[in-house]
Amino acid sequence: MPIARRELLLRASALTGAAVALLGAAAPAEAATPTDANGLNPLSILDQTAALQAAIERAAAKGEVLRLHMGLAPRQARERAIALLDEVGIPDPAYKVNAFPSQMSGGQQQRVMIAMAIACNPEVLIADEPTTALDVTIQAQILELLLSLQRARGMGVILVTHNMDVVAQSARSVLVMYAGQIVEERSSATLFQAPQHPYTAALLAARPAQAASGRLATIPGAPPGLLHRSAGCLFGPRCPYATDRSRTIRPDLRDWKGGKVRCHYPLGDPDRHARIAADRRVGTEVAP
Ligand code: SF4
Repeated sequence: MPIARRELLLRASALTGAAVALLGAAAPAEAATPTDANGLNPLSILDQTAALQAAIERAAAKGEVLRLHMGLAPRQARERAIALLDEVGIPDPAYKVNAFPSQMSGGQQQRVMIAMAIACNPEVLIADEPTTALDVTIQAQILELLLSLQRARGMGVILVTHNMDVVAQSARSVLVMYAGQIVEERSSATLFQAPQHPYTAALLAARPAQAASGRLATIPGAPPGLLHRSAGCLFGPRCPYATDRSRTIRPDLRDWKGGKVRCHYPLGDPDRHARIAADRRVGTEVAP
């Protein structure tokens, strides 16, 4: 597991004091399971095909997780694995428990991954791009499955995604991140109604449904690398509202309109145009 993912898992577990599971889509599975400061063993499940294949190659499949983390005997582990497959909507689970990934559709693979992620009854499930590479219909089914499991189990779900439509369908509160920083935090309803950070607004404008005359909006430029970060706002080089103040002073994340925003000129500020104009006139002499 990449270090960032391992740390995400351990920190989430340490912060919440809860059993945490990670359902992700970007790296091969790792045999070793990290232990956090609370002595908990957060479970990590990554790229569905690779992880399933690796599990099956170890001839343990779903039962291994249950035996390792819950101390179940092989027979109990198999029965529990079948029950979990049934819970996530896999047809004929007693047969599918022995199936190889190549015998399953992408949607079924993702359901098996979800079954593995909830096998040890986590209190928080971190779902990292759980619908990547799935078509729109299956994507909706997987989201509905996650939300129904959340309700039925009283489990927290942290959804990590680049897809704002997925956010709109599923999230109650949203953290928008840019270059590793939170730039906006608010309820999903208010975020989609009135985004306050220019990056959030640009993300929402880039959704396919917003494409005017068949052209998809884009955000020019690229995020900064870890080693090439300006002293000012990290979104500054791509922001149409940037001033010298933006370029020289990095904005803090601050309370704003019932949420938080990291911008000197939030979009809902009635004085923003005057302040931007004033700061552009002042130019490089602007003081912190
Ligand atoms: S601080 Fe300036 S550059 Fe950064 S997002 Fe706000 S307006 Fe844009």
